[in-house]
Amino acid sequence: MSALTITDLWKTYKNGFTALKGIDLTVKQGDFFALLGPNGAGKSTTIGIISGLVRKTKGEVSIFDHTIDSAPEWARAKVGLVPQEFNFNQFEPVLKVVMNQAGYYGVPRRLARERATFYLKTLGLWDKRDQETRSLSGGMKRRLMVARALAHEPDLLILDEPTAGVDIELRRSMWAFLKNLNAQGKTIILTTHYLEEAESLCPYVAIIDRGVIVENTTMKQLLSQL
Ligand code: ADP
Ligand code: ADP
Repeated sequence: MSALTITDLWKTYKNGFTALKGIDLTVKQGDFFALLGPNGAGKSTTIGIISGLVRKTKGEVSIFDHTIDSAPEWARAKVGLVPQEFNFNQFEPVLKVVMNQAGYYGVPRRLARERATFYLKTLGLWDKRDQETRSLSGGMKRRLMVARALAHEPDLLILDEPTAGVDIELRRSMWAFLKNLNAQGKTIILTTHYLEEAESLCPYVAIIDRGVIVENTTMKQLLSQL
């Protein structure tokens, strides 16, 4: 089954700028896929559309074989998004952030608590569960974003530049965490402008540049061309 199929996707913003010029992409269930490209290439725009945050101008996006137009709520529930920018309430305690996200998707409270506990422990944030998010370091905030994105057990996890601005130690532990999650069956897509990140994680890769997919191949193939 395909986790994501994008067909001839276009995006023109209100100011007239066309950020996506007819992109096609397929990500199979269970893949670990990198969308690689320089700043401004259209990576965030693409994942914004997939997660239902940005309106597309033209084209089709399907998540687990349902188009987002025909089943927008269903599609949104299948996707967990880790955006680039921290966007939680700074006065909310850590555990509550994750619980509320699960609650938003209708996960029963007891199950939500179990999942929140599991992910906060796995990501090394359990000790911080009662602290307000504003007291966390940048790296902890990043890990909290990941825990929150997983709270409703999405089948597809999408991360926008997950290790931008984090130190080498956190980068390595984030990579290990994501590898493990993928090994357990979660489909993962990440954007990065950083080849080493894609190389160490992702067997499949597409390169986007100025709104156009210029490569769509295996990492092995890509590296052999360099
Ligand atoms: P849409 O065409 O999808 O409705 P908009 O053009 O209304 O999107 O822009 C959405 C938001 O993005 C606005 O709040 C706008 O200020 C912001 N924005 C505008 N230009 C940029 C840019 N170059 N990069 C990132 N965000 C931008
Ligand atoms: P990336 O994630 O690869 O850095 P983006 O998808 O954020 O790229 O942006 C692609 C292009 O679209 C950039 O030139 C950016 O300035 C522009 N852009 C992004 N958001 C908006 C917006 N809301 N309005 C106008 N232009 C935007």
